[in-house]
Amino acid sequence: MNIHEYQAKELLAKFGVAVPQGYAAMSVEEAVEASKKLPGPLYVVKAQIHAGGRGKGKFKELGPDAKGGVRLARTEDEVRHAAGEMLGNTLVTIQTGAEGKQVQRLYVTDGVDIAKEFYLALLVDRATGRIAVVASTEGGMDIEDVAHNTPEKITTITIDPATGLMPHHGRAVAAALKLEGDLAKQAAKVLQGLYNAFLGTDASQIEINPLAVTDTGQLMVLDAKVGFDSNAMFRHPDLAELRDLTEEDPMEVEASKYDLAYIKLDGDIGCMVNGAGLAMATMDIIKLHGAFPANFLDVGGGANKEKVTAAFKIILSDPAVKGILVNIFGGIMRCDIIAEGIIAAAKEVNLGVPLVVRLEGTNVEEGKRILAESGLPIVAANDLGDAAQKIVAQVKQAA
Ligand code: ADP
Ligand code: MG
Repeated sequence: MNIHEYQAKELLAKFGVAVPQGYAAMSVEEAVEASKKLPGPLYVVKAQIHAGGRGKGKFKELGPDAKGGVRLARTEDEVRHAAGEMLGNTLVTIQTGAEGKQVQRLYVTDGVDIAKEFYLALLVDRATGRIAVVASTEGGMDIEDVAHNTPEKITTITIDPATGLMPHHGRAVAAALKLEGDLAKQAAKVLQGLYNAFLGTDASQIEINPLAVTDTGQLMVLDAKVGFDSNAMFRHPDLAELRDLTEEDPMEVEASKYDLAYIKLDGDIGCMVNGAGLAMATMDIIKLHGAFPANFLDVGGGANKEKVTAAFKIILSDPAVKGILVNIFGGIMRCDIIAEGIIAAAKEVNLGVPLVVRLEGTNVEEGKRILAESGLPIVAANDLGDAAQKIVAQVKQAA
């Protein structure tokens, strides 16, 4: 789960990390009001979307010469103008894809005079099973480009969870950023704050780009991208409230209401499977037979009829879906429950595409009987290979 920059900064400030003063705004008037609370003389009006590269981004509605999603303003009128041009318009950045993202929130923040920009990130390194700290002197630019062109300018250290963050980690980061004296101390303090925030919120990623040295010698976070481990959100109801559903795929949002793991893909065969591993295998075998899956969907181990019905409706709401493959191994989940869910959903939604069902496991005979007696045009399959072959053939035939 990701949050906006302004939310990330408010969070980091609570952990003692220095951020410039700023306020979120949902309207042009709120943006102007926000700027009045700031010291000036320089204000920065920033589009809040869950994507980076906003500064260099372009608004679809404004033409190629217009400024991007991070704008400097010196007067009330300039704040008003910037806010008016951004709110409601679509910002396209290297991270949004060509369709871009509509700007619905702004952040109006104090403009600082930057002496130098750095990159500093904390993330979970799956190879070592530790939190990794990535630091670079090349801040303010795309870190992927830095990694590609000048990998020697990126320093990565990992933190042993048994010791936690140690003073030598702070010194290592300061050295990587070529900071000395008071700035080295500030770097260690920033790192401590970020590390505490990372642990305290069950974060999966905290990326600061840029971390800036101001002309008055302050180390400050100017941009922050924070993501949390969704599986830990039950421990943080306050953070869960920061979720902005307008930033997420509507079908994935709907799926999450039912605790379904759904990810939209580009193909045309919808899949409903229980278990992530089986879902992956199902997608593989669809590809093996020359077609592409329209989604990943794991209905989980203990799904009930309501969940299966919801899953079915979500798959069918995707206009790209030309056929559906249901592949269920009934372990904890009983095949007859699945069968009832499929029938209930197929009756509710107008099932206009071929449906192949492969059931195996607990109560499989009962499940098959329910499907066969439903009167619906459901094709039964005996095993996974058979099921994939059948759905691909059905979709090709219908095309
Ligand atoms: P993005 O990474 O999405 O483009 P950033 O917040 O990193 O957005 O802003 C882009 C650039 O704008 C930064 O690298 C920095 O140079 C400048 N910038 C951002 N916030 C401020 C600020 N508060 N004061 C001065 N410059 C800023
Ligand atoms: Mg940035």
